[in-house]
Amino acid sequence: AKTAGGSCWRFFMPELLEKTTEDTIMINNLHRALEENEFFLQYQPQFTADGSKLAGFEALIRWKSQKYGLVSPGKFIPLAERSWLINKIGEWVLAEGCRFAQKLAQLGHEEIKVAINISPRQIKMNNFVDNVRQIIDAAHVFAPQIEIEVTESMIMENLDANIPKLETLQKDGMNLALDDFGTGFSSLTYLRTLPVNYLKIDKSFIDKIAISETQVKLVATIIELGHALGMKIVAEGVEAEEQLVKIQECGCDYVQGYVFGKPLSEEAAVALCKQYDK
Ligand code: C2E
Ligand code: CA
Ligand code: CA
Ligand code: CA
Repeated sequence: AKTAGGSCWRFFMPELLEKTTEDTIMINNLHRALEENEFFLQYQPQFTADGSKLAGFEALIRWKSQKYGLVSPGKFIPLAERSWLINKIGEWVLAEGCRFAQKLAQLGHEEIKVAINISPRQIKMNNFVDNVRQIIDAAHVFAPQIEIEVTESMIMENLDANIPKLETLQKDGMNLALDDFGTGFSSLTYLRTLPVNYLKIDKSFIDKIAISETQVKLVATIIELGHALGMKIVAEGVEAEEQLVKIQECGCDYVQGYVFGKPLSEEAAVALCKQYDK
């Protein structure tokens, strides 16, 4: 086995090098994409669980590359997150999402929220809070219309520094959502102390909800817990009618998923607001 290890090393080395070069090329491509305006946002609607009211949208980044076509964020965000480039992309997303929010407000839909995903490297920056404030001010958007999505693991990385940052944004009037809830090392001890308005239950919990009673009980318990802590609950990735029925029975507040709508272009999102405006 020891000798095999030696040959494995020789075997894997060139591959590792190749991977690094490939990544470097891609990171350069992403820099160029930012300069050449190849990124755009789509907006996925979030409804009250009964589907009667449009509550907001989650902004989701897309890359329309000249070279590669449409690339999903699952492919390029993790790569961008390895360099400082993610801060630039993150600022762009925030500015663009705020511009959209401001547009909605101008059209009389100021109650419709826009949720923006934040990367770990962004929150780490010393000027994170000032940055967010500046971008929001520059866009002339009212803080309560903006929701900031962070993950638990990201906050946990440096609780002492991150909690005050998030609290400041919350005091400004912004909403905070805990994304992908249940996928990390959920620590109930900390959940109580986190400045969070919305808990987003990860899709992996929703997937089996229509076929497993145990899963229903688990989700119902998460919802109860969130409510006990004063949070509103969003179920993510609800695709089927049967899942929707279960999630409604569990007392979930909001639903985001294909059952109600896929991510939309800005024009389609505006049209949806008009359709749901009383
Ligand atoms: P996420 O923040 O958990 O976003 C939800 C993802 O689930 C989105 O994929 C959305 O299209 C997808 N989704 C929503 N409902 C359903 C459903 O019913 N069924 C299925 N199968 N999928 C559903 P998307 O847009 O490909 O984004 C993937 C991930 O990329 C996001 O996960 C987020 O981690 C990251 N991402 C996307 N946009 C941004 C961004 O602007 N900034 C940062 N930092 N990350 C982003
Ligand atoms: Ca209105
Ligand atoms: Ca998200
Ligand atoms: Ca999520």
